Amino acid sequence: MKLQITVLPGDGIGPEVTQQAVRILGTLAELSGYDFRFREKLIGGAAIRQCGSPLPLDTLDECLESDAVLLGAVGGPEFDSLPANARPEAGLLQLRQALGGYANLRPSLSYPSLADCSPLRREISSGADVLIVRELLGGLYFGSPRGIEDDSAFNTMRYSVSEVERVARIAFEEARRRRRKVTNVDKANVLETSQLWRKTVTQIAQEYPDVKLEHLYVDACAMLLISTPSNFDVLLTENLFGDILSDEAAVITGSLGMLPSASIGGQVNLYEPVHGSAPNIAGRGVANPLGAIGSAAMLLRYSAKLPGDADDVESAISSVIVSGHRTADIARQASDHILTTSEMGARVEQALAEILDRRHAYHAV
Ligand code: NAD
Repeated sequence: MKLQITVLPGDGIGPEVTQQAVRILGTLAELSGYDFRFREKLIGGAAIRQCGSPLPLDTLDECLESDAVLLGAVGGPEFDSLPANARPEAGLLQLRQALGGYANLRPSLSYPSLADCSPLRREISSGADVLIVRELLGGLYFGSPRGIEDDSAFNTMRYSVSEVERVARIAFEEARRRRRKVTNVDKANVLETSQLWRKTVTQIAQEYPDVKLEHLYVDACAMLLISTPSNFDVLLTENLFGDILSDEAAVITGSLGMLPSASIGGQVNLYEPVHGSAPNIAGRGVANPLGAIGSAAMLLRYSAKLPGDADDVESAISSVIVSGHRTADIARQASDHILTTSEMGARVEQALAEILDRRHAYHAV
């Protein structure tokens, strides 16, 4: 197995957590005989500082030529005064568009031993396992015209049938690998885009008679996602609603630092933790790397087509959590072992090595 991975650490805690994700992929490659090659490039504020652009051409070319892209996070307060199209976040939006991944997968899983970290009561978060499939290249974030005129401003939300069809198919395929239920989320009682969205999703559902489809308005969904999260399996929605709902889903796990993501369906898939650059904790070595490591597991599943290894990395994360090891964001009890970012990476690495050892020994018999 040969894989060329472009690594974009970015800003703030991005480099800290990405280093741990690369460490896990490197260990897996070493122990399993895979040929994973990593090439690091600039993006975001780091790229603005060195090259004057949040997405240098050299970075974009490298990403387009690779098999997968692993990103940390971009942004920081020193860039907040720049115009929107020159900020670090503009580089990420441009990259997402160029790579073409239109389906953003954001899993959110409740670990029983992290129940105390969630503001939700244990009996509410318990058993929750939601996969949000967010449309990533359409809607308000990309629609034109957009602009500011004197004392008014405007954005455009536009979706075509084909844009909805392709992301809906991914949601139904994912549901088939899970508990066979898709909850479509829109605002079809008010928005024409949502009416087209709902009609199209309903049509695509006919190709998947084994998957149950339900529809929810986004406002009701926002309430149900935190009051009865275990009722959700795959949640399909458009760009803006998905952005908001996936951050809301973070409360199920207890910390934004736990959430991985994958943007798939385009020329090259992009993997990144859901969180931002967290300038308030950057440089202190306390960031939670599990979202970034979980993103590396998704890379193994969707780009390397190594689902068994992806499961092993996820099991390693789970076993470290079960054994009471925590970064500060998910620590609650006096008995928790509080780890730095790299100590947490080392724990997952050790757990993964043990899992692989057992697997290799089993196959050797
Ligand atoms: P954020 O996700 O960076 O931080 C929100 C809160 O969560 C903070 O308290 C932070 O300390 C905590 N947090 C986030 N990740 C964590 C981790 N791995 N471990 C422990 N705690 C963690 O969101 P924000 O503060 O709204 O944004 C900061 C910057 O990041 C802004 O410039 C924003 O534009 C940018 N941003 C980038 C991305 C991205 O690169 N994909 C996403 C969101 C925000």
